[in-house]
Amino acid sequence: MANECVFCKIVKKEIKSDIVYEDEKIIAFYDIDPKAPIHILIVPKEHIPTLNDVKDFSIFSDVIRVATELAKEKNISKSGYKILANCGKDAGQAVFHIHFHLLGGMKMEYLPV
Ligand code: 5GP
Ligand code: ZN
Repeated sequence: MANECVFCKIVKKEIKSDIVYEDEKIIAFYDIDPKAPIHILIVPKEHIPTLNDVKDFSIFSDVIRVATELAKEKNISKSGYKILANCGKDAGQAVFHIHFHLLGGMKMEYLPV
């Protein structure tokens, strides 16, 4: 449920997070359990449980814009980075509010999240 969702609580500032970007549609903050030197979560503010539930795909252009801007700001745009989204049980999705992992700052020859 949206009102029990950890990312909705972060959006509402009911849970503290280290926010690196915010606008009316998107919030981005450092992952609490980083799997790379740079590990930022880019989160559409609307509560949508999984990628399967997305109706308006225009949100993804905003996500990619924010990811590339943050990659430049965090100096990983030249060295490289991954943008990953987990969908459902087999992917290991833990938080059922759509989000994208921006990972960089190390060589990644495997899937870290
Ligand atoms: P998923 O496995 O669903 O793709 O990723 C969920 C991510 O959210 C995990 O990497 C986890 O460390 C992160 N996470 C879970 N709870 C919190 C929290 O309260 N604050 C922050 N900053 N990250 C969280
Ligand atoms: Zn939510």
